[in-house]
Amino acid sequence: MRTASTIWGQILLALLSVLAACSSPDQQTSVPTKDPETGEVYTRKRIVVDDSLIRGRVLDRNDSVLVDTRSYFVLKLPRRPPLDTLGLGILLGWDSTTVRQRIAEALPYPGARPSAGVQLRLTATEVKRVRRDSADWPNLALAERRQRVYTSSAGAAVLGYKASEAQGFYRQAQRYRRGRFYRLRNGGVESYYNGLLTGRHGYLHPLLDAKGQQHGTWTKDTTFRQGQDLHLTLDVKLQAYAEKLLGNRRGYLVALDPRTGEILAYVSGPVYDAATLTAPDQAGVRAELLESEDMPLINRPAMLANPPGSVFKLVNAAVALQLGAISPTTGFRCNQSLVSCVHHHPQAKTLTLGLKYSCNPYFYQTMQSLINRMPDTLAVDTVAVRHANLDLWRRYVRSFGLDSVLGVDVPREAPGFLPTAAYYDKARRTRRWTYRSIYSLSIGQGEINLTGLQMANMAAIIANRGWYYPPHLVRSVGDGGPLPRFTEKRYTLIDSAHFAALIPGMVAVMQKGGTADASSLADVGITVAGKTGTVQNDEGDDHAAFVGFAPADNPKIAVAVYLENGGFGATAAAPCAVLVMEKHLRGYIAPKRKRWEKRIQRRAQSGY
Ligand SMILES: [Zn+2]
Repeated sequence: MRTASTIWGQILLALLSVLAACSSPDQQTSVPTKDPETGEVYTRKRIVVDDSLIRGRVLDRNDSVLVDTRSYFVLKLPRRPPLDTLGLGILLGWDSTTVRQRIAEALPYPGARPSAGVQLRLTATEVKRVRRDSADWPNLALAERRQRVYTSSAGAAVLGYKASEAQGFYRQAQRYRRGRFYRLRNGGVESYYNGLLTGRHGYLHPLLDAKGQQHGTWTKDTTFRQGQDLHLTLDVKLQAYAEKLLGNRRGYLVALDPRTGEILAYVSGPVYDAATLTAPDQAGVRAELLESEDMPLINRPAMLANPPGSVFKLVNAAVALQLGAISPTTGFRCNQSLVSCVHHHPQAKTLTLGLKYSCNPYFYQTMQSLINRMPDTLAVDTVAVRHANLDLWRRYVRSFGLDSVLGVDVPREAPGFLPTAAYYDKARRTRRWTYRSIYSLSIGQGEINLTGLQMANMAAIIANRGWYYPPHLVRSVGDGGPLPRFTEKRYTLIDSAHFAALIPGMVAVMQKGGTADASSLADVGITVAGKTGTVQNDEGDDHAAFVGFAPADNPKIAVAVYLENGGFGATAAAPCAVLVMEKHLRGYIAPKRKRWEKRIQRRAQSGY
């Protein structure tokens, strides 16, 4: 049963919370408290320690400021007509075309009515003019705003935005089919690290007697913490360079330092300007981004999972070596009755040659010997053997951070997918499926899906011969380090010797007769290790893929490139990857590749 006093207590509580919500932080809440022992009445106070909170900045790995906060003035136009636009033009020093144009640009979305609220951003000179004549314009209001400013156009997908500044974008996005999806997933580090960037107010909560003497506190004090700066792992120059190589093409490029997991460049194509989603005058551009069939607002490296294609032969080879299904000296015939081979090549007598020529039948047979491999026991049930071996394969492949999120510091990350034996039981409607019906896995096609972050991490794992730090975008918050989980080394289930056995094949890919020999950096003394992929898909041209790292014997950069409907991995994806490697390792591109670079950039601008 409820007593009168508990009800009264609840009313008091409700009243208190209303009071707390209404009062500005620096006001005291003067609710009297009675000490049950002494009977003395105390006053609760709340004192703000410091309220000059400044949002932290975002800097790149070389301390270039990428995002900062600046104040500016806006002129709020009346929500109801009439508006003397002629007079407004004279007030601001704008001609009539400019007035119309600026009002149209300042609408929250194209075609919105002025009653939706128009705020014109003013220069310092314009502010002076408005202040001088403010008496004549009682229905105009000047307001000071703080806004995040982006110093570079690069890095949109990484930087993201402050949610409170994206309200216009959110309203606009609601009008589109995919709008909700975009809205949820574009916040970048501004959203992921929002609490640390914002900081928090500090409050003291003393209990005071009638004479102003303190008698303890009425609730826990909180310490003031200034907004922290974020130091990104990104190199903004490399980022801008990589964005130029992808331009308007659909796909991604992720480059990371395999030694630390630090992401050096993170491109989601088509690229757009970092300020677009929050800039007050960009509603038109936002509408184009929201409408585009190329879906530029999807954060591709984190959110889209694709079949990896032939680059996945590396993972399958490592697992097959670990489980003893093949050895580095195993040879297989290029038997095209099993699966077609795109490349005409000499016999692949070793694993190195299998990788060099990317021979499909070679890897068909590699995985076949893994899936059909009989264990040492006397098991004769081949159905059970296939089930057990596929699940064993999956367990080893999962240790590459696949089929689960890597924990990268982005707002949303897709896990990708690796099929299980149970999955095939259901999909094939029988437990008696054979290797023949799942062999696509051997060449990285079919049901298997990886994100761009997982692809780059896969290259980093091979570069490190078996381990990785989770890829991440922030190397330090304030004066501290990265988030603790980014300093925890993770190991795959595969011995380092087996990774070492893959590298001669990856080096051979970039040499004469290899699938990507045109993308060699041997002329500038850099040995690249890589693997191309050309991924068939039902909806148009093949996707082009490439993963690799350099220098092969002391890797400092690992890169994954994926171009949707881009054609051959060797001709489309590999050149972008090695240009980014060369730029990072040498700082500039050798004259020999300048024409090549120009051609890629032109193609990037045209979008295909
Ligand atoms: Zn072949």
